[in-house]
Amino acid sequence: MLFGKKKEIKPEIYSEDTCQSCGENTKRQFEEGDYVYGTGLQCKKCSSSNTLVTAIYGEYPPDDKSSSTRA
Ligand SMILES: [Zn+2]
Repeated sequence: MLFGKKKEIKPEIYSEDTCQSCGENTKRQFEEGDYVYGTGLQCKKCSSSNTLVTAIYGEYPPDDKSSSTRA
């Protein structure tokens, strides 16, 4: 099983903010300049701006074809 040069699928990058006031986790689209333990966006739940980016990760969109995926 070889991984050839087929169509590249780019993962969507997400950032996860954790509110320091209410503990709410918010998953959102990654924005330029985000970094782990950087300042996140304003909390949607309690409107606090005291949020921290706690995770940044890429997710592949659900595959539309039957190619094998790496686990
Ligand atoms: Zn909050």
